[in-house]
This record gives sequence, C-alpha cells and structure tokens, in this order.
Amino acid sequence: MTNQRIKNIVIVGGGTAGWMSAAALAKVLGPGHSIRLIESEEIGTIGVGEATVPHLSLFNKLLGIDEAEFVRETRGTFKLGVQFVNWLKPGKTYVHGFGTSIGLDIGMLPFHQYWLRAFKSGNASEIGDYSLNTLAAAHGKFMVSAVDAPPNTPLANIAYAYHFDAGLYARYLRRYAEARGVQRTEGKIRETLLRPSDGFVDAVVLESGEKISGELFIDCSGFRGLLIEQALHTGYEDWNHWLPTNRAVTVACERTGPPTPYTRATAQTAGWQWRIALQHRVGNGHVYASPYISDDEAAATLLRNLDGAPLGEPRLLRFVAGTRKKVWNRNVVAIGLASGFLEPLESTGIFLIQSAITRLLTLFPDRNFSEAVIDRYNALSRFELERIRDFLILHFHATQRDDTPFWNYCRTMEIPETLRSVMALFREGGQFIRNAEELFGLVSWVEVMLGQGIMPTTWHTGADQMSEKDLNEFVAHVQQVIATCVDAMPPHQAFIDRYCKAAGV
Ligand SMILES: Cc1cc2nc3c(=O)[nH]c(=O)nc-3n(C[C@H](O)[C@H](O)[C@H](O)COP(=O)(O)OP(=O)(O)OC[C@H]3O[C@@H](n4cnc5c(N)ncnc54)[C@H](O)[C@@H]3O)c2cc1C
Repeated sequence: MTNQRIKNIVIVGGGTAGWMSAAALAKVLGPGHSIRLIESEEIGTIGVGEATVPHLSLFNKLLGIDEAEFVRETRGTFKLGVQFVNWLKPGKTYVHGFGTSIGLDIGMLPFHQYWLRAFKSGNASEIGDYSLNTLAAAHGKFMVSAVDAPPNTPLANIAYAYHFDAGLYARYLRRYAEARGVQRTEGKIRETLLRPSDGFVDAVVLESGEKISGELFIDCSGFRGLLIEQALHTGYEDWNHWLPTNRAVTVACERTGPPTPYTRATAQTAGWQWRIALQHRVGNGHVYASPYISDDEAAATLLRNLDGAPLGEPRLLRFVAGTRKKVWNRNVVAIGLASGFLEPLESTGIFLIQSAITRLLTLFPDRNFSEAVIDRYNALSRFELERIRDFLILHFHATQRDDTPFWNYCRTMEIPETLRSVMALFREGGQFIRNAEELFGLVSWVEVMLGQGIMPTTWHTGADQMSEKDLNEFVAHVQQVIATCVDAMPPHQAFIDRYCKAAGV
C-alpha cells in the first residue's frame, strides 16, 4: 500500500485565521510536514476582531503560550462578559457574563430555578446579582482564578476571555509559526490551478509567476474566499434575513479611564455599537443594516459615542451573514472569513477559527480525502454555526423595541424553528437543554433570554421542595457570597499592572 499521508500544506492568507492555522498545524503535525503560508501585504488583513470568548485560552495552551506574555504582547485586557445596553428597550442594561453556573446549583437543579421562584414573590433581585462575572464587571474588578481558594468558592473558577489587538496577535503567531518551520511567502495570488481529473486544487500561481503546489489547501483569504468560492464555486447560504446587519464602520479612540473588564454592545437605531477597551486604546465599531441607515449617519453615530478622541478616520466594512454551502470542498478547507460570517455581537469569529482548526486536526485527512471525513467535518461545522446563529438572532428578535423600522423588523421577523423551540421551552418553565457541544451553554442562554425580557411563566417543581423561608435565605446567602467575592477582587487595571502590563502604556 502506498503511503497516502499528506505532506504539503498550503495556507492562503495571513490574517488571524491564516496565522492561527499555521501555528497550530506546525505545533501538532511537527517537522515532517511542509507548511507554506502565502499572504499579500498589498491586500492586507481585515484588521478587526478584538474580543473573544473564554475558549481562546485553550488554544494558547495547546501552543504552549504563556498567558501573561500573550496579554502583554497584544496589549490585551480581560473580558468577563458582554454588557448589553438598550437592547430590550432604551434605558435597560444587562450583562451576559461567562461561566458554567450562576449562583449555586443544587443537585440537578440549576440555581436560576430557585431564583425564579424567589424573584416572582419579590424576594430576589436581578439575576446578574447572583453571577460573579456580572457583578465583578459592574464594579470594574478582575482576577484570574485564585489557586489558593477552596474549590467550591466562585473565586476558584472564574471564566474569562481576552480583548486584544488582533494585528499584534497575528504577528505573535507568525513569529511562533516561523520558528517552527512554517515558510511564509509574500505575494498576490493571480490564479488557482485545478486538476482536470477531479477538480481538486493543484497549485496557486502568484503575480510573480511562482507556482506553489500542495496536497491540502487551507483557504484563509478572507471574505473573497479565493479558493473555496472563486476557484471551486462552492456557493453561499445567505442568512441576512435573520441577521440583517451588513456593514460596520470602525475606529479606535483614546482611552480616558481604566479599561472595563467587559465588551460593551450598545443598541442603536439600526444596529449596535461595540466598545472594547485595550491597554493603550479603545476599539469601537458601529454594526448596522444599510437599508435602515446611511453610511454617513452610521459613521456620525459612531463618532458621537466615543470615550475619547478618534485615532484615525472611520473605516467601512461590508459583509453578508451566512456560510459556505460546504466549508470543506475537495482538498480545500475554508477557515475564518473565507468560510462564512456571523456578525460580531458575541465575538465568535476567532472562536470559530479555533474550533475549525481543532476539527481539522482531529479529522486530519490523507490524500484520499475520504467523503466520510469531509461530510463529518461539514456537518459538525454547520451544527456549530447554526447554534451560534440562533443565539445571535435571539438578541435582536426578543426585544420590546418598537422605536425604529430596524427593530420592528427584527422583533417581527420569522425566526428559525430551532430558536423558536428553545425560547418556547424557556418561556414555559425556565428550562434550557444544551444541544450537544454547542458553544453557548445554559448560563449564556439563560442570561440573555432573561436580559431580553423572556420571563418564564413558572419554575421547576423541584424548587418547591424548599420552604419559602429556606428558599429566601438560600438566595440571599448566595447573593452575599458573590458580593463578598467581588469585594475581594482587585480592580481590573491593578491586576493588569501586576500581571501583564504592556511596555510603554
Ligand atoms: C466588523 C467586524 C468585527 C469583528 N469583530 C470580531 C471580534 O470582536 N471578535 C472575533 O472573534 N472576531 C471578530 N470578527 C471576525 C474577525 O475579524 C475574523 O474572524 C478574523 O479577523 C479572521 O480574518 P481572516 O484571517 O479570515 O481574514 P483577513 O484578515 O481578511 O485575512 C485574509 C488574508 O488573505 C490574504 N489574501 C487575500 N487574497 C489574497 C491573494 N489574492 N493573494 C495573497 N493573499 C491574499 C490577505 O492578504 C490576508 O492576509 C469581526 C469581523 C468583522 C467584519
């Protein structure tokens, strides 16, 4: 039997997706493989993507990257969750705090079921008061999990993500990958050559005339999808009717105070605006639906709502929510923006890159490119994306806003059946059942459903097992423990200064 192992891998694109792929493949596959990455400085990268979800620490651990060094090098800060301002209605704010539990679960019953019973009788405050992440975010506090804390206290298990300069992260990973043998080629790809026998990609040709052949091609070329779409014509499934934002205007500004340990997402008349505080500046962007607001108005809204002076001119980006019909087609795997796009409300872009890389490494093919491998990869990718898509739609759809045509559209639009059933289950008895390995779990869905005004009619019968007195004492005790923990946490800035302060900031 001939050896069918893949030896030559070509990565097209050197944005976050390209360099994350290069670093992880070099680390996991080792020196027996040739990994070439082609990027064009003339084309450049998209240059946004500054907030993450907690999973990125696992990716960095896989690469053996030291956390403090990574945050210092990328001028990063920490993120306990996302603060949503004006989403349910103007004036109303809530936080989607990360974590695996809110309050204290008892047996198989999650805390929010007890909270529901107490809340409905007027004996509990908002759910966020029982979440370490939410309360710490509100107080500008942050620390990583305390190694010396007893294992059952909230301080022993703090879930957090990062904000960082994505350009610096890509540069950091480039150094990492090149040190492990990845060969970078600067140049613009002019043409993709397909094998006549089966339509697989054989090689790409640069404007210089250089021809680069490979066995496996990873398309990280951004929205243009140079291989997956322009060469293989895979097709795109458009989800704009569910996620109607299709443009963003972005600008960084000076920071005027200590960095907040959360991303802020403020609903606007035809979309929303992000605010991400890094160590040296604040990243901002206004994501909007172009049928409802002009580009000029969107830029003006952005500039009106900055903390400090803008650092440069606003930049316009266009996108269409959706996915390639197949993210793996023949010998091309599309990763990053080349594979599809979900708008950045829950900062899932970089997570999707990480997850795609992990999936590819798990199902790493040989030169036979078995259909079983490709089908499984595509099915898992679609499942993951559709679950995140539904979570995003929830934020726009479950709103009481009726003050603009954009919100009227979102509130009244048809939603996927998969989301409808999740909302119905929660509305009835406060239940949420995680679907297999979907990214967002119970805490995320419960916080956002409550934050968006979906109040369950009743609670789980198991919460009736406590007397009313015991229930109220339990809920009050949990609230007090959380408040005491938050008191003990340092301010976010103080933690950064001690642990990972960037040079020159
Ligand atoms: C408005 C907005 C906000 C976002 N915010 C977040 C966020 O907060 N968190 C998050 O996780 N994600 C976010 N994302 C997503 C995130 O930006 C991307 O997932 C990430 O930057 C990966 O981009 P990429 O590497 O796929 O593409 P790009 O950065 O576009 O890189 C494409 C690469 O391909 C190269 N290339 C293209 N064509 C050719 C050619 N012909 N020849 C040679 N090279 C070529 C380019 O030079 C470049 O190196 C956001 C996206 C948008 C649009």
